[in-house]
Amino acid sequence: MFDKILIANRGEIALRILRACKELGIATVAVHSTADADAMHVRLADESVCVGPPPSKDSYLNVPALLAACEITGADAVHPGYGFLSENARFAEILADHNLHFIGPKADHIRLMGDKIEAKKTARKLGIPVVPGSDGAVAPDQDAMAIAKSIGFPVLVKAAAGGGGRGMKVAHTEADLALALSTAANEAKAAFGDASVYLEKYLQKPRHIEIQVLGDGRGGAIHLGERDCSLQRRHQKVWEEGPSPAIDAASRAKIGSTVAKAMQQLKYLGVGTVEFLYEDGEFYFIEMNTRIQVEHPVTEMITGLDLVLEQIRIAAGGDLPLTQDEVTITGHSIECRVNAENPVTFRPSPGKILQYHPPGGLGVRIDSAVYQGYVIPPYYDSLVGKLIVHGKTRAECLMRLRRALDEMVVEGIETTLPLFRALVREPAIIDGDYHIHWLEQYLAGQ
Ligand code: ADP
Repeated sequence: MFDKILIANRGEIALRILRACKELGIATVAVHSTADADAMHVRLADESVCVGPPPSKDSYLNVPALLAACEITGADAVHPGYGFLSENARFAEILADHNLHFIGPKADHIRLMGDKIEAKKTARKLGIPVVPGSDGAVAPDQDAMAIAKSIGFPVLVKAAAGGGGRGMKVAHTEADLALALSTAANEAKAAFGDASVYLEKYLQKPRHIEIQVLGDGRGGAIHLGERDCSLQRRHQKVWEEGPSPAIDAASRAKIGSTVAKAMQQLKYLGVGTVEFLYEDGEFYFIEMNTRIQVEHPVTEMITGLDLVLEQIRIAAGGDLPLTQDEVTITGHSIECRVNAENPVTFRPSPGKILQYHPPGGLGVRIDSAVYQGYVIPPYYDSLVGKLIVHGKTRAECLMRLRRALDEMVVEGIETTLPLFRALVREPAIIDGDYHIHWLEQYLAGQ
C-alpha cells in the first residue's frame, strides 16, 4: 500500500479522496493555488504545498510544481481526481519516470480513450455497440456530404479531441453541414489544439446511460451497473441517477457483461466509465472516461462500495473487492450538482457563502468542500456541492430528495437549488420519462 498520497486536485473531490486515504491510514498531501489557501482540503490534509497562482495552468496543471511537491513531502503516489490532469497520459508517464504511482489506468489506455475516434474503433473491435458514423476523422479531401448522406440526417459533427461538449455541432439538413463542420473544427482547434472532426448519427431522444467498471489490470474486470445522466444542460450533467428508470435487469446484465468482457480483454486498470446513448432499446457507445467521475456516489449508494478507496487499493496492486456475482444493486440513488450559478441564466455566481446549512437525515449525503464564510473563487468550476440521496425505491428517493432540497440553505451567492426544487416536482421527472434534450426544452419553456 502507499504511504503518502499527493492529491492533485481541489474542491469536493480533493476532500473525497482525503477521506478514503484517512480510512486506509495513508498520509495525505494537499496542493493548492494561492486562491485556495483557505480551502477545506488544505485544512484537513496532513501536509499542504502551494503550487502556484490562481489560474489552473499555473497551479493545478503545473506539472513541475506538482513533482516538486511530491519530492519535498516524500509522497509515493498521486491521485488526480477528475478534470485537471486526470486524463493526461503524459502526466501518468512523467510520474512513472520519477518513480511515483499514478492512481489511474495505464497511460496507453488513457491515451487510447482520450482520442475519441480511436476509442470508437477500439470499442467496435471489443464488441461494444457504437453510434453509426464516419469511420474516422473527416479528411479535407473527403466528401463529408456523401458520408453524412450515408449516415442520414440529422448528423452531429464532433471533435476528435472533444470533451465537455465543446466542438460539437448538429447539422439538421444538408444545408447546415458546411457551417457545422467549420464551426466545430474552429471550436475544436481553439479548445484542444486539434481541428479534426468526425460525423455521427444525431440521435433525437436518447438517454445517456453509463456503465461503471472496475478492473485489476490483469484481466479481471467487473461492472457495477449503470447511471442515467440524461438530464443535461449544454452537454453538462445536472442530475444523475441509478438505476436508470428506463433499463430493466435483463438489459442491464446484457450491456454490463458486454462492457465487463471488453475491459477484461483490455486488461483495464482501476475505475472507468463507458458512456452510451440509449434509444429504442439499443445502446450506442459514445466515449469512455478513464477516471473517477463526478457522479460516482450514485453507484456507491446502490452498491455499498467505496469506489475511491477501491481505486487506491487496486492502484497499489490489490485485487477486485468482489466478483460479478457478488455485486448487488440496492434501492435507488439520485445526485444533484448544486452550482454557484443563477438558476435561470446560469451565470456563475462566485462569492462569499454567508449562511450554509447542509441537509441531513436518513439516506442523505453531501459531498462538498464549502463552509459558512467560505469564498467561492471565480477561477474554477462553480460546484457548491453534490446532494446525493438514497431510498429503497425511486419513489422513496424522490421523497427524500424533495425534503433534503427544501432543507438545504446556501445564502450569499446564487445557486441552482431552486431549479432542483422545481425539477423534483415535475411530472416527467417523477415518471422518469426524460431524454438528453428534455432539460433544455424545459428551460426554454420556462
Ligand atoms: P464530451 O466528451 O464533449 O462530453 P460526449 O461524446 O460524451 O462528448 O457527448 C456529450 C453529450 O453530447 C452526450 O451525453 C449527449 O448528450 C450528446 N451527444 C453526443 N453524441 C451524440 C449523438 N450521436 N446524438 C445525440 N446526442 C449526442
